[in-house]
Amino acid sequence: MSQPIQGKDFYDSVLQFYDKAARFSRLDPGILEQIKVCNSVYKVSFPVEVDGHVQVFEGIRVQHSHHKLPSKGGIRYSVYVDEEEVKALATLMTFKCALVDVPFGGAKGGVKINPRTSSVQTLERVTRRYASELIKKNLIGPGMDVPAPDYGTGSREMAWIADTYLAFKFGDTNALGCVTGKPVGQGGIRGRTEATGLGVFFGLRELFNDMVMLKKLELSSGIAGKRIIVQGLGNVGYHAAHFCQQAGAIITGIAEREGGIFNPDGLDVEAVMSHRTEGGSILNYPGAENVADSGKLLEYECDVLLPAALENQIHEGNAARIQAKVVAEGANGPVTRAAEQILLERGVVVLPDLYLNAGGVTVSYFEWLKNLSNVRFGRMGKRAEEASLQRLVTTIEQTTGKSISAQERELIVRGADEISLV
Ligand code: GLU
Repeated sequence: MSQPIQGKDFYDSVLQFYDKAARFSRLDPGILEQIKVCNSVYKVSFPVEVDGHVQVFEGIRVQHSHHKLPSKGGIRYSVYVDEEEVKALATLMTFKCALVDVPFGGAKGGVKINPRTSSVQTLERVTRRYASELIKKNLIGPGMDVPAPDYGTGSREMAWIADTYLAFKFGDTNALGCVTGKPVGQGGIRGRTEATGLGVFFGLRELFNDMVMLKKLELSSGIAGKRIIVQGLGNVGYHAAHFCQQAGAIITGIAEREGGIFNPDGLDVEAVMSHRTEGGSILNYPGAENVADSGKLLEYECDVLLPAALENQIHEGNAARIQAKVVAEGANGPVTRAAEQILLERGVVVLPDLYLNAGGVTVSYFEWLKNLSNVRFGRMGKRAEEASLQRLVTTIEQTTGKSISAQERELIVRGADEISLV
């Protein structure tokens, strides 16, 4: 996987997208400027002992918009985290929430750390200290700003944040709503983990049911049989690939940090995951061709290219060589503004991140609501979760303008992990 270009390029690209859209608005230019800028940026450096030595870590939290509170967005752990990158991601969150009518402003956070080479103890210390820095300044909280998982973080980190918050705010009955994406046993909600990937699947499925689009793309209807190349087997990429494969799509390529694998007859996503867990790499997967430079795999022929890892993966330098008919933005900002222009001129359909990966924050909203109403676990909690997932279905219907069958609705509310989407 090629490394992200500087965060500055990413932020510039996001601002260019904004300017392009703002030209269609009749709002006062001053108001448009206010909507564009990040409302607050908080940077912090803090010491944490690692292997007997003090190490200084840098963290950041950006709240792009306070027009609706709380603001909302994940926390990223990566050595490439910088202010501009987080500003770009926070900006995207505002518009993503607006698009799916989730009543939050946008935010994002990050810590410059390599989560893969850091010990669990270091990760816990860094997470708790970063959270403390934000909590003591009243920057996060159920009504203020609510983090969630992002690249390099997951439910474990969210549990540490919630626990740190509870220690500061003992007695606050809404405290669990300070963060979403928590483990189910600690105030989380069923379906949150797979929600982003499930949303990606729904978005693709709608595309392949749209007669106008199918005619333009010269493709047959339905997701079954569509050839998909996925970049990133993280939470988003893995679940998106899993649901697409379950519905009959053929995952022909998978690109990861260590390289890519390709098999025109299809790769079994679950088996590739087990192969990677066992050997630490997707390479040398039986029956597949290794692609040493995983960036090259993005240029292979396919129906759908699904970048589901990081920003700036399809840029001016490779956009002209992308052979996919559809580029589905599972990640935030994987296609730069310049690249999008090139793709659109070539007739490639780009499904935008704001729409395609909004399933995560949508279910985060229901988790937050559940925490605020202090619904107990067990039977009542299960019913509340079912009601939340019913509302996810309604959100999908409202955003796509299409209705979901009673049978499928039933499957969704029974829990994403039980869904059979064939
Ligand atoms: N990091 C996710 C995103 O980019 C989750 C946001 C959330 O649930 O707050 O949409």
